[in-house]
Amino acid sequence: MGLLSEKVALVTGGSRGIGAAIVRKFAAEGANVAFTYRSSAEKALAIQKELEDMGVKAEAIQSDAADYGQAEALIKQVVENFGKIDILINNAGITKDTLMLRMNEEQWDQVIDVNLKSVFNLTKHALRPMLKNRSGSIINMSSVVGVFGNAGQANYAASKAGIIGFTKSIAKEVGSRSIRCNAIAPGFIETEMTEVLDDKTKEGFLTNIPLKRLGKGDEVANACVFLGSDMSTYVSGQVLSVCGALNT
Ligand code: NAP
Repeated sequence: MGLLSEKVALVTGGSRGIGAAIVRKFAAEGANVAFTYRSSAEKALAIQKELEDMGVKAEAIQSDAADYGQAEALIKQVVENFGKIDILINNAGITKDTLMLRMNEEQWDQVIDVNLKSVFNLTKHALRPMLKNRSGSIINMSSVVGVFGNAGQANYAASKAGIIGFTKSIAKEVGSRSIRCNAIAPGFIETEMTEVLDDKTKEGFLTNIPLKRLGKGDEVANACVFLGSDMSTYVSGQVLSVCGALNT
């Protein structure tokens, strides 16, 4: 018996990076897993097969998290195919980094839509089946940047700070129905999102990380297992940093 046996999880952005680590770890803990991708169809279908080979039900679904109508259709499809949603992980995210003076409206809007509006889109529609079950765990992927801010990431930091306010509000709104809502604030995790940073920036991060290394997707996934499982039934409205003590 895994920590997530009998549970159904929906993870946005499960085709790469942290999301891919989450779906693998959830399947290893016995969860049936639906996950989304935007463009990496080949990678997503390979992961679906991997999860099925682990003996759980899995489905990779192309769905733009920033699109309200697609989020509504996605939740309907997952409930139809899996019967319920116990755990929603709003993980999909992008960066469009640049200094404020150079940031254009499109760079602002895209990051807010994919990172923050998506959390509204998915939570809004997943809450109905969760309310019906009087149970659920929602996990939103924020960032230490949403807590501290970061030069050159005003759009990203605003989206991640917005997620924290949203998380705490939802925890208060639906707590009486045994639905929990928490955020995770990863520090600097090795994925394609951080691969693009130059060596000087990475060195700068390393100097400030007390554990003296970058984090791994698996280490964020472990925190998701805790918040998604019955190990955390009295934990809600919190922001859990997974950052090697960077946020300390
Ligand atoms: P990543 O490697 O770039 O992967 C991003 C994932 O999100 C991919 O699966 C991508 O799908 C999906 N995605 C992007 N836009 C989408 C959309 N509109 N609709 C649905 N899916 C979409 O990123 P990551 O590093 O794993 O980051 C995952 C989350 O953790 C993000 O929210 C990020 O902000 C947060 N985070 C990351 C770090 C870090 O150091 N890496 C630190 C703090 C927080 P496709 O493959 O189809 O493009």
